[in-house]
Amino acid sequence: MADNNYWDSAYKSGDFEHWELNYPSPELVGMVAAGTLRKNSKILDVGCGGGLDAIFLAQCGFNVIGIDISSAALKIAEKRAREAHVEVDWGLGNVLDLPVKDETVDLVTDRGLFHVIEDSDRPKYSSEIYRVLKLHGRALIRGASKESAPDRFNPITEEAIERYFSSYFESGPVLPIPLFSVVGVMDGRIVILKKVKRVRILQHKVPHLYP
Ligand code: SAH
Repeated sequence: MADNNYWDSAYKSGDFEHWELNYPSPELVGMVAAGTLRKNSKILDVGCGGGLDAIFLAQCGFNVIGIDISSAALKIAEKRAREAHVEVDWGLGNVLDLPVKDETVDLVTDRGLFHVIEDSDRPKYSSEIYRVLKLHGRALIRGASKESAPDRFNPITEEAIERYFSSYFESGPVLPIPLFSVVGVMDGRIVILKKVKRVRILQHKVPHLYP
């Protein structure tokens, strides 16, 4: 699923109703409603797909970047943004090598991307999110739970969050949510991470104790 052909053909054939929702995701709307994001905040939607969350954020007045590995997804997203008369900075790219400058982003939103990232790539996912976020910037991540479709997804679990994020992020609780799509609902998990100061280990020159 890291392969963009899989995603491109889904978006080209219109077969993406299994994950897309036809309105902005409720938990993202909730986060904006909490009023903690300043008006000029920069928000990055990783794996933005057809772009409805990114478009909602642009309608709220934020500066929005939408990145996806599928050019077919971005075509759909661009068309929808034009129709909604909003500007989103769309970019073709891989979350493991984001085309985004260091420490420029206030919020990363991920709905359904981290749960397709394999364990071997998760350290890179985490370091890229860390790199682009400003200090105290947050990441809102939601995806499949361990119980839902274990053969299709690499779930969001407390253990995974601890393993891949605890060194550089403070984590809120990993909570259950229904992940709705146009065709159904899946048992999901949500977590909000906050970038904190990197713990530095100073490289002292080891003195020669015994000359
Ligand atoms: N967030 C959207 C799409 C979720 S499906 C929504 O909620 O509807 C996962 C999305 O991630 C797909 O659009 C897919 O093309 C994209 N994707 C998969 N692997 C990726 C990667 N390595 N980097 C960036 N995007 C990726």
